[in-house]
Amino acid sequence: MAKKALLVVGDGMGDRPVKELGGFTPLEIARKPFMSKLAKEGECGIMDPIAPGIRAGSDTAHLALLGYDPYKYYTGRGAFEAAGIGLDVEKGDICFRCNFATVDEDTFVVIDRRAGRIREGTHLLAQALDGMEIEGVKVFFKESVEHRAGLVLRGEGLGHKVSDADPHKEGEKVHTVEPLDPNDIPSQKTAKIVNEFVRRSFEILRNHPVNVERKKQGLPPANIVLPRGAGTAPHIPPFQERYGLTGACIVEVGLLKGVGRYLKMDVIDVEGATGSLDTDEQAIAKAVISALNDHDFVLCNVKAPDVAGHDGEPYKKVEAVEKIDKMLATILSQISPEEVIIVLTADHSTPVSVKDHSGDPVPIVIWGDGVRTDDVDCFGERFCARGGLGRIRGFDIMNILTNLLSVQEKFGA
Ligand code: ZN
Ligand code: ZN
Repeated sequence: MAKKALLVVGDGMGDRPVKELGGFTPLEIARKPFMSKLAKEGECGIMDPIAPGIRAGSDTAHLALLGYDPYKYYTGRGAFEAAGIGLDVEKGDICFRCNFATVDEDTFVVIDRRAGRIREGTHLLAQALDGMEIEGVKVFFKESVEHRAGLVLRGEGLGHKVSDADPHKEGEKVHTVEPLDPNDIPSQKTAKIVNEFVRRSFEILRNHPVNVERKKQGLPPANIVLPRGAGTAPHIPPFQERYGLTGACIVEVGLLKGVGRYLKMDVIDVEGATGSLDTDEQAIAKAVISALNDHDFVLCNVKAPDVAGHDGEPYKKVEAVEKIDKMLATILSQISPEEVIIVLTADHSTPVSVKDHSGDPVPIVIWGDGVRTDDVDCFGERFCARGGLGRIRGFDIMNILTNLLSVQEKFGA
């Protein structure tokens, strides 16, 4: 049987020394026998997800981890977010993030940018808007969570350099979308289409049954859509085309599902994977084991450490690490190092002291048959820094893996 590879990413798992934890990082102090088993039997190092000191987003970092230079391929989060909520996105499409909002029906002043954080019926509102055509441009629209949604425009001669319809605060009129450069003809066209879309969204939504019902209940109607953050969809070669490997993504958040869909990998949804500290790590483990049966490469991202990092909660971050360790325990009980190469790392650091992503490097271990072992026997930022891999970049992982999988072409004679 051909060897396979599993890339496990603890989202934002890297950290800095924490006083409350006796000067250790959450990862260093956590109980994590299976991560340390990988460290002991594998080769360790530290990794700059993009480059030393660069504060990576989850989307740009994952592009890099999968071997795609984000400086070349990243054109904003819009395309990945749209793909992540299930919109079909093609190269050249113009993507927007949107809110369902409440406006005054006479003045178009925004009363509530989130339409009371509407939760119910948004799929019906979205259905009423999806599929329209404006001046030959196809409009695709889909709801996301709560008041959020995605908009994709497909047609000839569209530009993405346009302003937002969303005024970003209440008490202001809906903005008219304008090209950022008045001489940019393609963006002029996009602005015209978006303004017409916003106008039609109001006409269609104001008396939609969902809103009639909301008004009856005294809730703010979701009577308009406010697009923002225009971006163009880049051309990115699909994962399988690039490596000749079949790939699966088991990731919890929409943005990363979007990255996976964009690379035409199989994005596998797992029931109980909440993207939060209460996630069902055993369900994720089972999905990973099953995906390894019919894919050459599996990417698994667990979001919990990042959530704890953003919240500034060191003990919760320790708990999140221990959850990932329990997930690894189950995975390791089902696979052998002769069959699967495992890489365990993070996509960036989210230090609890910073409450956001930082540019600190993250630990990494590579485990499996053929890997040169080193003296590191515990997984963690500073333990791994003494390992045999030294300091690598996220972009190096796929080369290291395709080498170990013996599927890389020789460079030169
Ligand atoms: Zn991340
Ligand atoms: Zn984050």
